Amino acid sequence: MLDVCLLGTGGMMPLPQRHLTACMIRAEGTSLLIDCGEGTQVALRLQGWSFKSIGTILFTHMHGDHVAGLPGLLLTIGNAGRTEPVVIYGPKGTARVVRGLMMAAPELPFSVEIQETGETEYKAGALYVRTFRVDHNVPCLGYRVELKRLPEFQPDRAREQGIPLRAWNPLQKGNTVVIDGVTYTPDMVLGEARKGLSVCYCTDTRPTPSIIEGAKDADLFICEGMYGEEEKKSRAREYKHMTFREAAILAKAAGVKELWLTHFSPSLMRPQEVLGEAREVFPNSYAGRERMTKTLRYDDETAES
Ligand SMILES: [Zn+2]
Ligand SMILES: [Zn+2]
Repeated sequence: MLDVCLLGTGGMMPLPQRHLTACMIRAEGTSLLIDCGEGTQVALRLQGWSFKSIGTILFTHMHGDHVAGLPGLLLTIGNAGRTEPVVIYGPKGTARVVRGLMMAAPELPFSVEIQETGETEYKAGALYVRTFRVDHNVPCLGYRVELKRLPEFQPDRAREQGIPLRAWNPLQKGNTVVIDGVTYTPDMVLGEARKGLSVCYCTDTRPTPSIIEGAKDADLFICEGMYGEEEKKSRAREYKHMTFREAAILAKAAGVKELWLTHFSPSLMRPQEVLGEAREVFPNSYAGRERMTKTLRYDDETAES
């Protein structure tokens, strides 16, 4: 099970009823925040999710509407009692900007590690993160966050092979176990690979093939739609953003299950009214709303489990 919350939907500047685009993902005790514009902590407070548990912050890029909320957020995480380290990832240039922002939050009860990355993969607690380059006017990354699912444990096979009971649990979790000099490997007791859960988050960018690759078959694709109407496409091109239709074309090409549009221009006051632009191309498109939340579940997982 994986929870996603789109904390805000604004691009450029926060508005009285619209926080800046940021996204929080939680799964199996891991909390990860993507982007942190001015006021993100207010949106998170309204959502009621824990500050203390945030151990990873991913930045798409270093524009103010995605980073200016960091010092306040870190102070609030500290006030919430966190002492474990926080790791901040972002594209080239992140360390300089983050260190500058952190001068306004010099005394934190936890350490902060900054990692600049290009296209790569890493693990953040229970979640796997894949980064890919997108096309903005500064270095910018798209993120795919996945909760992988281990294959099904087959107790009959474990019994047949006489595998000691105390090895079952670690094997089930994918770990190799050695007991009395005998090595037991997960493939001895695990079945076919099973599909995990994936969220892809992309803003700010023009459409790129890397996005289609990064969002491939994602359960949820959160993509910028700075401009609603297709007439604004030349503006979108000029400022390195996208229209709703362009985002929907990516969603369709990537074969995602659902598209949430976000990072709306402050001039786009009612994105819902132009959602048809996206739905003509990709019917399962939604205009992001403040604190829009979804719980993703494995194919055979029920709401109660
Ligand atoms: Zn932006
Ligand atoms: Zn930007």
